[in-house]
Amino acid sequence: MNEGVQKYVEKAKKMLGQRERYIKEETKKWKFDTIAVHGAYSVQEAIENNQGAIIEPIFLSSAQAYRDTDEMEAAQSYLIPSWAYTRIHNPSIGYLEDTLALLDGYGFDGETNCCAASSGLAAIASATDPFLVKLTRKADEAINFVSSCQIYGGTFQQFNIRKMQERGIECRWVVDPNNVDEWASKIDKNTRFLFGELPTNPGLVFFDLKKIIDLAHEHGIPFIADSTIATPALLRPITFGADIVIHSVTKTMTASGFSIAGAVIARKNIITNIENDEMKADFTNYIKFLPNRDIGWCLSPIQAILSLNDIRTLRSKIDFLSQSSLKVARFLEKHPKISSVNYLGLENHPLYEVASKYLWLVDAEYDDQYKKPINRYGHLLSFQLKGGIQAARVLLDGLKRIWRATDLGRIKSIATIPSISTHQQMGEESRSLASIPADLVRLCVGAEHPDDIINDLEQALDKI
Ligand SMILES: *Cc1c(COP(=O)(O)O)cnc(C)c1O
Repeated sequence: MNEGVQKYVEKAKKMLGQRERYIKEETKKWKFDTIAVHGAYSVQEAIENNQGAIIEPIFLSSAQAYRDTDEMEAAQSYLIPSWAYTRIHNPSIGYLEDTLALLDGYGFDGETNCCAASSGLAAIASATDPFLVKLTRKADEAINFVSSCQIYGGTFQQFNIRKMQERGIECRWVVDPNNVDEWASKIDKNTRFLFGELPTNPGLVFFDLKKIIDLAHEHGIPFIADSTIATPALLRPITFGADIVIHSVTKTMTASGFSIAGAVIARKNIITNIENDEMKADFTNYIKFLPNRDIGWCLSPIQAILSLNDIRTLRSKIDFLSQSSLKVARFLEKHPKISSVNYLGLENHPLYEVASKYLWLVDAEYDDQYKKPINRYGHLLSFQLKGGIQAARVLLDGLKRIWRATDLGRIKSIATIPSISTHQQMGEESRSLASIPADLVRLCVGAEHPDDIINDLEQALDKI
């Protein structure tokens, strides 16, 4: 390394030290809402780098210029923090990543980092593929991973078709994720990770997360959680020991529905049986600067800041949406045309106990309204009608205010029938494996007044 390059490395070290101190001494001491509003974007950062802009700017620039060849060399060999080219990184994406890392790391003693991706599915691919590499040159090397089969339809396709059928990587499905022995029975020396989604979309399955994380670690492999439906306002898997968390930022996290985004959050020093020190030490930086750079599933800087802007009010939004959802679930439960309602907040739900162990509104104890920890269960619910699929179609067609769409996590109420939409591609056999009945209706409750949501459901139910 020549002297000029060395100079830039020294300067960067100082800057990184300041930043680390800021996070440790300031942001880590804040409550969740303060982190959601500010992330790691400090006054100093605004003044020194962004002409004092109080809102994180959208950097619409494909690439970064350097002062001289020494700085260019230092940056391109990753010796100093830089963003170089927006496929690799971009300051706006960094602001979103800082906030997400701090939110999912809220209440966790160690350091967390984040790598944003162009979608939730890109996040899942970028969080899982680095573990599915060949460790030998043998053509028939056996590689497997174990996943709960109750997962988002797109994730199911990615695992089942792209990884298993096309690449010969075995995905071993766990049918009952609450059965620790079933998970254990599927793990062997070629298992690279355990994957679970909780609560699940659309079946609202929940399991005892800590037990499965501990099981993964007993076998020296990581646990990867899809925490999209819960969001860090209700659940932070890393605080229970999870190695990696993925989010479809598209969903509840942003709620506005402007576009598609994803994120991978990891703690430092993940557990893995892959001999790759860089990957182990800082998983999200590793994927950002190496595999993801070469694949190119980067997020747009516009999308990063739009997402960031939505996330600032996450906690209060989830609180309100969860309360409305409980009201709607109670209404549906009592309706004579409904046969069953899946909502984890209903006391008679078979998974109510286990869900209540984990799903807590963050910082409720510091909220003057509550002054103590309280459970909240999110805004996704599903139900079945006594009249089966025909009745479900009449209900959906009769809705006036609730949108018929294959979307969820929105500020607007949205309903769908997964078997003919989001989970149609899975086919009947896989749907039955994942316990998604053909006549299941999925409803994601928005921020309208709950009376208006209930009235819309009631008039549509009257048409059956
Ligand atoms: C939507 C969704 C995904 C995929 O996210 P995209 O942003 O649509 O790619 C993954 N997991 C869950 C639980 C989802 O609901």
